[in-house]
Amino acid sequence: MLFGRIFLPGLVLCALAAALSGCATIPAGGGLPVYTIGGTAYYPLAGLCDQRGVEMKYDSLLRTVRLSKDSHQVILRAGDILVLVDGNVMRLSSPVDIYRGVLAVPKEFKDQVFDLLFSFSVPPVSRTRRDRIKLRKVIIDPGHGGNDPGAIGKYGLKEKDVNLDIAKRLSRLLRAEGVQVVLTRSTDKFIPLPMRAELANRSGADLFISLHANAARSRSLNGFEVYYVAPSVSDSRRAYLTARSTPLNLKNASFSGEPLELKAIIWDMIYTNSRAESIELSRSLCGSIRDNVGMNILGAKSARFQVLKGITMPGVLVEAGFVSNLKEEKLLKTGSYREKLAAGILEGIREYSQEMSPIDFSR
Ligand SMILES: [Zn+2]
Repeated sequence: MLFGRIFLPGLVLCALAAALSGCATIPAGGGLPVYTIGGTAYYPLAGLCDQRGVEMKYDSLLRTVRLSKDSHQVILRAGDILVLVDGNVMRLSSPVDIYRGVLAVPKEFKDQVFDLLFSFSVPPVSRTRRDRIKLRKVIIDPGHGGNDPGAIGKYGLKEKDVNLDIAKRLSRLLRAEGVQVVLTRSTDKFIPLPMRAELANRSGADLFISLHANAARSRSLNGFEVYYVAPSVSDSRRAYLTARSTPLNLKNASFSGEPLELKAIIWDMIYTNSRAESIELSRSLCGSIRDNVGMNILGAKSARFQVLKGITMPGVLVEAGFVSNLKEEKLLKTGSYREKLAAGILEGIREYSQEMSPIDFSR
């Protein structure tokens, strides 16, 4: 943990135009220019990343930049003074800025974050498939239940039963690896969607996995797909609602009594981070199911599923095959195939967990 409490008198988003007045460029050592913006020294972020071999991904829609190397991850946005560093919020004195079209970070960020996390000397971490799962707790949500059977196959296979059985198998496999597991239901009972999300948020889990089986009019449609929350679901709106209703306690930083706007900004970043993580998880799961189960992969897709909109941690909804497809219905009936699916999902979680940066809520 690098940063302690966050001190915040004023508010947060800076006016870019004001910050940009009075700029000057001074050449500096290491081949990187130093910009002076409003009396503060700034470095070009892309140049820093090149020097240290840090991967930099820019999402122009969300104006968000993700930096990653080894197991470290930093998320920042142009105009913000808040950055997420390995899941912890840090407040800078000066905002991340744009100078002549180039994303620039204040010296404080370089000294206190970048240089510590991304040193020249860190050797690349070599990984094997059997790396341990780097998660503390996972919540598994078997879809449907009780009087809601979900999809029903031609030969009577009920989605709710498949979902619950795969969930139990997956939870056994995860527990065997030392990961705590919470199930939203462990019996054949109906649980409303908002309650599933609430259970997830209260559980303190790092990851949410909702398990479903698919159905389509076309009986020929088959395969595996994973959904994450759609970008059209507004993070800032969710963030504002969450900030109003939910206490925000991150590890080593309590936000009780802080202004609503500030809490909303932090929730906004948490949601943005969670979506990015969920996309990574979706891709890992698809890759693992392709390699381990040999299923047709329909891909990682976004959707506005209610249960995904309601959760604060990274989470996905898995559609583990079509009960409407005769071949997959037959396969999904068997314990051995369900076990294979659970093991495939486990390996996808394992691979994903090597790179993830969960937000550290205090519990
Ligand atoms: Zn379903």
